[in-house]
Amino acid sequence: MEITCAGAARGVTGSCHHLRLQGARLLLDCGLFQGGSDAEERNRAAFPFEPADVDAVLVSHGHLDHVGRLPLLLERGYRGPILATAATCHIAEVILRDAARLQQEDYRRALRKATRAGREGEVEPPLYDDADVDRTMERFQPVTMDDSVDLPGGVTARFRPAGHVLGSATIQLEQGGTRVVFSGDLGNRESALQAPAELPDACDVVLVETTYAERNHRSRQATEAEFAAVLKASLERGGNVLIPTFALERSQAVLYEIRRLMERDAIPRVRVFLDSPMATRLTRFYEHGHNEFRQEVRELLARGQDPFAPPTLEFTVDSEASKAINAVTGGAIILAGSGMMTGGRILHHLKHNLWRDDASLVVVGYQAEGTLGRALVGGAERVHIYGEEIKVRAGVHTINGFSAHADHDDIRRWLDATGDAEVFLVHGEPEVMDAFAGELRADGRRVTVPEPAERYRR
Ligand SMILES: [Zn+2]
Repeated sequence: MEITCAGAARGVTGSCHHLRLQGARLLLDCGLFQGGSDAEERNRAAFPFEPADVDAVLVSHGHLDHVGRLPLLLERGYRGPILATAATCHIAEVILRDAARLQQEDYRRALRKATRAGREGEVEPPLYDDADVDRTMERFQPVTMDDSVDLPGGVTARFRPAGHVLGSATIQLEQGGTRVVFSGDLGNRESALQAPAELPDACDVVLVETTYAERNHRSRQATEAEFAAVLKASLERGGNVLIPTFALERSQAVLYEIRRLMERDAIPRVRVFLDSPMATRLTRFYEHGHNEFRQEVRELLARGQDPFAPPTLEFTVDSEASKAINAVTGGAIILAGSGMMTGGRILHHLKHNLWRDDASLVVVGYQAEGTLGRALVGGAERVHIYGEEIKVRAGVHTINGFSAHADHDDIRRWLDATGDAEVFLVHGEPEVMDAFAGELRADGRRVTVPEPAERYRR
């Protein structure tokens, strides 16, 4: 067996692991590197394996850092199938088309600027376009959760629920007497929507994510109580409540919480806008994805109710409807992306509301260094949005605990089920991996923290 981590090695993004099991060559995920000044360069760099030689790609879930380099893999010669759960196939298409669109927009903007400077030859073309996504989607083959799938080289694969986002799976591979398990991204056992990850079988090698391996999340109960209190107080101020959210999972989880609060009259039934075409499409998939959810969610769906729709929900898809929200100066809850306030429709809502002292901003997701979201959470008194200076008079609240990721205890519980398998730590910050490796070694586990693009033979 040979393992090469082509991404998410000593880093969080770009999940992509090449596996040689005797004659079979398999790829687990093929995600985009995101964030950091060298992400663009790393995405354009050659893969540390020959794409044309790969027999099959298996995708754990639809997040961009797990699927975002698939079109490049095809362009560079890959001709095999891309296996994923049915929900992941649908989600991946939405995510890839959105990525292609954003790349086109960035390219056009850079080109306009460069043309004015007479440097248009220096602008790199987008990584891929919509036609490349079309070709990629033709390769996708849906697999059923928990079924065994035969792959070339006598390998069988089994996708099992990971509890992270709709369609997310861990992937178990077997050949002869050898078993390898890949965690993909593991879910938070206290997710309001997803059932907890299924535990893996004992195996020989396990690749496990370590995003939050160094800490434990706040309890769901505490998070819900805090969210309810903040929403209630914010609505009492009279202004609008803005909630920046990621389109996949976070939007649906927040809508689910708002619905529950309205059902038990904990907050008034004010207008709720989901101002995002992408989140709207993804929410439709959630409405049809009953199998994996927690029992409460499954029961609502079985009764024909929509767990992700507060009674006052309005989807705004076209930009005219989105602009019309600007006329609503108070008493509404507005969900829009992007989650870190680095672009998207949330910027318009921030511009129209942050300066009002009766408005509120409720932050429910991680805000990376250098983003507008981080500045606001950090207490910035003035920010610039579309070149305009805005005074921050709105209340700003941060709710931690809505994580879709496993915490330390989740990862340990999952990992303990793999017996004495050798552990490869992936998808995390290097310091977190090193500390977690130390903890596991102290418990007698064999641990490797793989270097990017290096080959490990076992
Ligand atoms: Zn993910």
